[in-house]
Amino acid sequence: MASTIYRKIANFYRKQKERVSNFRKTHQLHIPDYTVSMTLDEDDVQIAEQWLNTPTTAWFSHEMVEQYHRAFAEWNGSARAFSFMSGREALSACIFALDLQAGDAVIVPAYTCVVVPNAFYFAGIEVIFCDIELDTYGIDITKLVGKITSQTKAIVLQHLYGMVCRDYEEIIALAKQYGLLVIEDCTHSTGATYKNIKIGNYGDVAFYSSECSKVFNTIQGGLAISNQPKYIEKLATYYDSLPFADSTWIKKQLSNVPYHYYTYKYPIKLFYNDWAQWRYGDDFLVSTTQEEKEGRRPAYYGRKMAAPIANLGLNQLLKIDFYNSQRITQATVWADWCHTHHYLTPTIIPNSSPIFLRYPILVEPEKKRNLDWAIREFNFRPGVWFTSHIHPVEVQPMVDCKNAITAVKQCINLPTLINK
Ligand SMILES: *Cc1c(COP(=O)(O)O)cnc(C)c1O
Repeated sequence: MASTIYRKIANFYRKQKERVSNFRKTHQLHIPDYTVSMTLDEDDVQIAEQWLNTPTTAWFSHEMVEQYHRAFAEWNGSARAFSFMSGREALSACIFALDLQAGDAVIVPAYTCVVVPNAFYFAGIEVIFCDIELDTYGIDITKLVGKITSQTKAIVLQHLYGMVCRDYEEIIALAKQYGLLVIEDCTHSTGATYKNIKIGNYGDVAFYSSECSKVFNTIQGGLAISNQPKYIEKLATYYDSLPFADSTWIKKQLSNVPYHYYTYKYPIKLFYNDWAQWRYGDDFLVSTTQEEKEGRRPAYYGRKMAAPIANLGLNQLLKIDFYNSQRITQATVWADWCHTHHYLTPTIIPNSSPIFLRYPILVEPEKKRNLDWAIREFNFRPGVWFTSHIHPVEVQPMVDCKNAITAVKQCINLPTLINK
């Protein structure tokens, strides 16, 4: 009798182990990658679990969400902020705010995430890709004018890896000169400053992300900001027209908080992540779905953030400066590593303070293709943002975007919050 029970338990445990190991293989977690969700702590887990135990009717009150908007706007030094369920959905709000129409064209750096061009395609807008520079991986100002056509209405100015892009003010001045509106992609550089003002406040509108690999973490989430009354009004109109994310989604997303915490962050995760996988693993959310990779608009696309996620955002905002200061410290370690190993360090443009979400380095192409050397050297897998012009979707190399091609082949990035 006792032995039967024992066998059953052992069997159950073996099956769970198998499930966990298959999961890790599918999601490539078999190589240590404990560098995402590093800003999650016990307090975030508690908030998520409290909301999971609260009736869903309380999830859709506006109060906490509005508190989040005010807190982010104040922290960011912006007039107003509006929250969405992702950065890409916040970008769609920016597109609406600037009144970009089907048939218009926008200039986008040829080294970005597929969800950026997708947001424009979903609105019927043409995307013109422009080459980048290799100092900060921002748009190359010398290539910009050649990309402007009579259809061009706006440009996306992207700050990558936590840095401020090269020629920041000059690009905005050039855009103004040609009558182009400026959307700032601040998803990597939330909190970085230029002349003591946070980036995002120089363009017409800007968007931010709290996806789990970004600066602060609500698993998924985003914000759009503006300082100009006409765009704020349009952002508000757009925001008010959207539904909240539904309770099934929110529940899943909340379950991802303990799941990520115990999988990536918790100090004795090697034991706990088996348990977390069993308890929460079925709710695992991927940020970019297959249909988005194929350029199709998900049915749920365009959602307001609900109170539980805003609560997580509020809590993360309390810690964002602390974690960014830790990132900045680790970046000095990577700078030393670069000097020792004869790699160029990225450029910090004058008057800027980067926060170094990741530390980008150009390595030999074979070293990006096969990262075994780095896993041996660091005991973690470095990041590969980006592996194509529109990561992670493979496209033909854009022949007039030589620097972007170089970055795709050679740029790896080292994490700046590490749990070894
Ligand atoms: C992650 C990312 C986005 C989109 O943010 P989500 O919150 O994931 O939608 C946009 N631009 C860049 C450069 C990104 O890396």
